[in-house]
Amino acid sequence: MLGILGGGQLGSMFTMAAKTMGYRVTVLDPDPNAPAARFADQHLCAKFDDPKALAELAKCAAVTTEFENVNAQAMRDLAQHTRVSPSGDCVAIAQNRILEKSWIRKAGLQTAPYQVIEKMADIGAESSQYLSGILKTATLGYDGKGQIRVNTLDELRQAFVSHGEVPCVLEKMVDLRGEISVVVCRLNADAIAAFDPAENFHENGILAYSVVPARLPESVQNQARSMAICLANELDYVGVLAVEMFVVGDAGDLIVNEIAPRPHNSGHHTIDACLASQFQQQVRLMCGFAPADTRLQQACCMANILGDVWGDDGGEPNWSAVLDNPQAHLHLYGKTQARVGRKMGHLTVLADTADVAYLLAKQSHSQLK
Ligand code: ADP
Ligand code: MG
Repeated sequence: MLGILGGGQLGSMFTMAAKTMGYRVTVLDPDPNAPAARFADQHLCAKFDDPKALAELAKCAAVTTEFENVNAQAMRDLAQHTRVSPSGDCVAIAQNRILEKSWIRKAGLQTAPYQVIEKMADIGAESSQYLSGILKTATLGYDGKGQIRVNTLDELRQAFVSHGEVPCVLEKMVDLRGEISVVVCRLNADAIAAFDPAENFHENGILAYSVVPARLPESVQNQARSMAICLANELDYVGVLAVEMFVVGDAGDLIVNEIAPRPHNSGHHTIDACLASQFQQQVRLMCGFAPADTRLQQACCMANILGDVWGDDGGEPNWSAVLDNPQAHLHLYGKTQARVGRKMGHLTVLADTADVAYLLAKQSHSQLK
């Protein structure tokens, strides 16, 4: 029996992968309609810090998580009883931008220039060098939430107040030429592998498309993989780790944006385009097995399907826009309510080249509504 904290789409795809490998799964999620509950052997429908539910989870042979803002202490406590990956310490780092950035630099990697702002008095003359910038809350941000663009010291002070004067990071705007991400699978320093970098396109702060292979020189792709592996080693990470990177300036330098201690939206194509998905990797690693081959089998493009493509009257999208293409694969998460901005599913189109896959995915997606 494997346990997972969180039963959203990532937990759901994890559960499917675990079940095909013969495991049984216990999911902890307070939502009675949690997507993973469709497949789980046991759904603990309780709060994430519920002592009874956590005690039940502690009986599992191994426990993992699908979301970033899981209580790191609960992970540490579970680790007293069973195998837990990633560790509570790694999760704590990934969920706090201040810790996260200092670890990225400790690994010898670049981040955007930044200043930690914990109190109003931290905003001063030295803050000017990080303008124009983005003030990001240290914790609880996702899909572009918890971020305010600032151009002047006055705007910075206002933004800090808007954030409720919680600890923040002021990040200088970088000359963004592209965004990529690498999903790393690590058991230990000798058993580590990285999927090919995905080239990511966002709309309204939410990932819209991931194209793989990324249309970047092979040397840059190798560098991205090495950086992600280096970071996973520095953290002594066990499990699946996603590393988001920015491609900056004319030279196309890579800097690390942020990490996620779990499978990532930009790795969903691995279900259809790789021999082992990022979710199968998560199962292997949490059970102490080495990662499977990460090689890409075919060029592809993943497109997210948000609640936006449902009609205002709740009418179903036009699924034949995906399913009429024999090279396209549809994944729906079983969420009952379609809302604007809500991730309801995704589609992956395979093609001979990344360019064609991207084109076809955009075409399918635009015909859904
Ligand atoms: P989230 O947790 O919401 O994913 P990110 O830090 O990844 O937050 O920021 C969301 C998006 O905002 C990024 O994918 C990128 O497009 C843009 N962004 C973030 N930081 C910077 C920056 N320093 N310079 C330019 N663009 C940025
Ligand atoms: Mg991000």
